[in-house]
This record gives sequence, structure tokens and C-alpha cells, in this order.
Amino acid sequence: METSLPVIQERPRRPPWMKVRAPSQDTRYGEVRQLVREQKLVTVCEEARCPNIGECWGRGTATFQILGDTCTRACRYCYVHSGKPDDPPDPLEPLRLAQAAAQMGLGHVVVTSVDRDDLPDRGAAHFAATTRALKAKLPDCSVELLTPDFLGVEEEALRVVLDSRPDVFNHNIETVRRLHRRMRGAKASYDKALWLLRRAKEVAGYPVLTKSGIIVGLGETNDEVVETMRDLRGHGVDVVTIGQYLQPSRQHAPIDRWVHPDEFRWLREQGEALGFGSVFAGPLVRSSYRAEEQRHAAESGAGAVAY
Ligand code: SF4
Repeated sequence: METSLPVIQERPRRPPWMKVRAPSQDTRYGEVRQLVREQKLVTVCEEARCPNIGECWGRGTATFQILGDTCTRACRYCYVHSGKPDDPPDPLEPLRLAQAAAQMGLGHVVVTSVDRDDLPDRGAAHFAATTRALKAKLPDCSVELLTPDFLGVEEEALRVVLDSRPDVFNHNIETVRRLHRRMRGAKASYDKALWLLRRAKEVAGYPVLTKSGIIVGLGETNDEVVETMRDLRGHGVDVVTIGQYLQPSRQHAPIDRWVHPDEFRWLREQGEALGFGSVFAGPLVRSSYRAEEQRHAAESGAGAVAY
């Protein structure tokens, strides 16, 4: 009987520009880790296995993930645990988060969440409570919310969230139109993501910055990335981030290509030409990477920044 060898799919080796430094002892990494544990908080830095954790935590920053550690979606590129969440929102989480942010001395706080399609308001009230707790504890601090799509209750959820007056409303479109359903599943929609970003500005009643992120290396072309940037600008988005996809496990979508730093430079130029207030594009750029700088760049008109 003829037997065939199993096909072993090798993950492509990381090119030199994707190398990251390990956390070093003489930074604030240990302090941030301890605060996160003490306040029983979840960070997307750890949950998504972000490659920048050494750098960001070393600088004393982190991105908080509210509403638990279990996501009701299962996007093909995301490492966050998916399943059926056990617990309702923890009413004390906003206060603990604000306490941690104060102890860290943050001037800009990024808050994101898992998708909570099991909650009637999809977690909108918890986002608003978190913004209010942060603004009460740190009146000079700016708050950036990176939200899910609030499936089915979009308009009401936007009103609740923006009533708490976050400084930046961030919703990641993640990938180009052609790959959107394949990567994000049937519940997500490219057009709905665009609508949410445009509608956020309309319902805010104050000059909120809007922001979105694109992952590259999932099978898109650079022209499709430019098309997505054009769609985002067409919906009034101020800040865009573009970064390389990293396959979190063999069960996730494979890496299609390593995007060269020169391509990121080209994408940045295209974004700048489209009129974004800030374009952060680079192999290790993530939506929350140096978020305070992204905000300042947009507000000061600095434009594109290379990383
Ligand atoms: S880029 Fe964002 S998610 Fe990654 S470590 Fe930095 S703050 Fe955390």
C-alpha cells in the first residue's frame, strides 16, 4: 500500500525588519505588569500576543481590554480567545482601570474590548462608564475607544458611547473589501464599518477624531489597501494605521506575504495624499501603537509617520 507523507506547512521565516527586542529589566515593563495584575485588568497587548509589548510596557503604556477575555466572534487573524462569555460586565472594572491609568501616569488611554454580541447593548454602556471613570480620575487625560461594531444596535450604541465624550473613536476596518467576509465572518461588514466611522462624527456633537486600522499580509494587494484608505477618507476618517499581519497559530489564516518597509513607505505616501491627518504605517504598527503620538500628529497636522 502506498503511503504519502503528511504535508508540513512551514510558517514563513520572519524577515529582519520584523525582529523585536525582548523586554529589558531597566524599563517600566515590570511595573505595568504588576499594576495590570493587581487591578485584575485584561490587556490586548497580552491577549493578542502583540509583538510590541516589550517596547510599549517598557515605556509605561498598555491598551486595556474591557468586557472580559472571551470574544463572541472568531476572526481568522485574531488570537483573542473566542467562545461564549460567562460573565456580565464587571461594574467595578471602569474604576480599577482608571486607578491603574492614574498610577501609570498616562496622558492618553486606549480602551478596547472583545465583541459581546451576547449583551443587549453589545457593551456600549460599559465603554461609556469607562470613559467617564477615566475623565473623572484623570481630567487632563485623552481617551481613545477602539470599539466593536455593535451588531444590530449600532445607532443606539454610538449615541451611548459618544455621550461619554471620548477624544478618539476608533473602529478597525481590518482588511480590504474583497477579503472582509472571509477573514471576519458573515456578521461583520466592510460597509457597516465605514458607516459606523462616518456616523460617529455625525452623532458626536463635538470634534471627535476618528481612526481605523488595516492589517496587511492577508492576501490583499497594495492597490486594494489604497482603495480601503480612500473609502475611509471618504467617510471622514482622520487617522489610519497599517501594519503587518502575524499568524498567531497554525489554526489562523496564513501569512500571505511580508510587506517590505519600502511598500509601507509607499502606502504612507498614498495615505498622506488622500488627506489623512495622520498615517502610521510600518511592519510593527498596530492600532494602538504609540496612540498618543498618532493623536498629536493628527491634531498638529504632522501627517505621515514612519515606524
Ligand atoms: S501596540 Fe498596542 S496592543 Fe501592542 S503592546 Fe503596544 S499598546 Fe499593547
